[in-house]
Amino acid sequence: MITLAKNIQYFVDIIVSKSLCQDKTELSRLNHYVWITLLMAPVALGTSAYNAYIHNFTLSFLVILFSTHLIGSLVFIPKMKETFLIYHISNLLYAFLILYMIFNATDTDNSRILWAYVYPIGTIFLFGNRLGFLYSCFLLGMIILLFGIVPEIHTTYSTPFQVRFSVTYMTVAFISSWVEYHRSRYQKESMKSHKALFLEQMNLKEEIEQRIELEKELQYLAQTDTLTGLHNRRYFLEVAEQEFTRAVRYNGSICFAVLDVDQFKSINDTLGHPIGDAVLKTLAKHCLKSLRETDIMARIGGEEFAFLLLHVNEEQARAKMETLRKELSSLEIPYDEGKILNFTVSIGLAMCTPEIKRLDELYIKADAKLYEAKDAGRNCVR
Ligand code: GH3
Ligand code: MG
Ligand code: MG
Repeated sequence: MITLAKNIQYFVDIIVSKSLCQDKTELSRLNHYVWITLLMAPVALGTSAYNAYIHNFTLSFLVILFSTHLIGSLVFIPKMKETFLIYHISNLLYAFLILYMIFNATDTDNSRILWAYVYPIGTIFLFGNRLGFLYSCFLLGMIILLFGIVPEIHTTYSTPFQVRFSVTYMTVAFISSWVEYHRSRYQKESMKSHKALFLEQMNLKEEIEQRIELEKELQYLAQTDTLTGLHNRRYFLEVAEQEFTRAVRYNGSICFAVLDVDQFKSINDTLGHPIGDAVLKTLAKHCLKSLRETDIMARIGGEEFAFLLLHVNEEQARAKMETLRKELSSLEIPYDEGKILNFTVSIGLAMCTPEIKRLDELYIKADAKLYEAKDAGRNCVR
């Protein structure tokens, strides 16, 4: 039974998904209509065939008309924007069929009135508890009218039958209406809480994204030197420590170099801090351009920069730093109007050897070499 219901729902979903309608309430009504139609159409076709078999051709024709409308509506509904009229026509056709069956009831066959019980259930399911209940009352009113104005019906249905029928019919209508009222209220409430939950989820997602962005920004700021955009001292030492450990473990070669701008204080003192800053920025930009991707560079002090060159021997490292020194000394920093400043750098370089066990030993060695370079008259690599 559940599998059958699932299969029917599968077809219902296909038809509803093709609808042009966007409104949620209307889509839910369409869902109900397709459900009723898929259940009623085969029953109506069977009834029509049976009535043809017992030679009740008029009723057979009317039922065929009704089922054609039902099946046809399934074809046209996906192409229509306003489907409400179709529901009303189906509803009125069914009501008319019931009235016709009661009107044509005979002494021998008076059980067709039982189809009337389907009406309140279906119409309330389709139009909701209010309009559905009104339609149900309308049909009962018409049936009572038929009972009253057609004398032959009185012989088919006794007065106690008519009373019992009316009372049981109204009971079905009331219960259906009550169930539908609670169902739609529950649906509205759950939609409301679903919406609130969805909004909360969206807000949370936005907040998480903002925090991730903020965290990235904070991480960048914590690792970066704001003037040059290079890594800062703290981050450099962190990465250098990892690379050092790796190089020691796998016998990799590693070179530590320290670069210091010569006579930088006098640049600052004679031309001003902004020009000093321009020197640092130009230097950083040029070094980044000429380094390999695996090389790591950072600003570790005022006018001091550190380099970690990986997978190079001493000769290669020395050649590399020598080239860099020469390139830097040919850089031109414009100042005042049309004037140009050149600067030089001194570089101390140390290769990691088996006796060096810690990174700071390597750093101290490179620093010592830098002092050697300074002592040797600056603008050189030691
Ligand atoms: P040496 O050749 O021996 O290295 O001499 P030096 O003048 O370069 O060295 P010193 O340590 O005496 O001077 C470094 C100067 O760098 C002092 C300081 O004012 C300046 N400095 C440090 N940080 C910055 C900065 O961010 N911007 C600027 N413009 N100057 C800075
Ligand atoms: Mg200096
Ligand atoms: Mg210095």
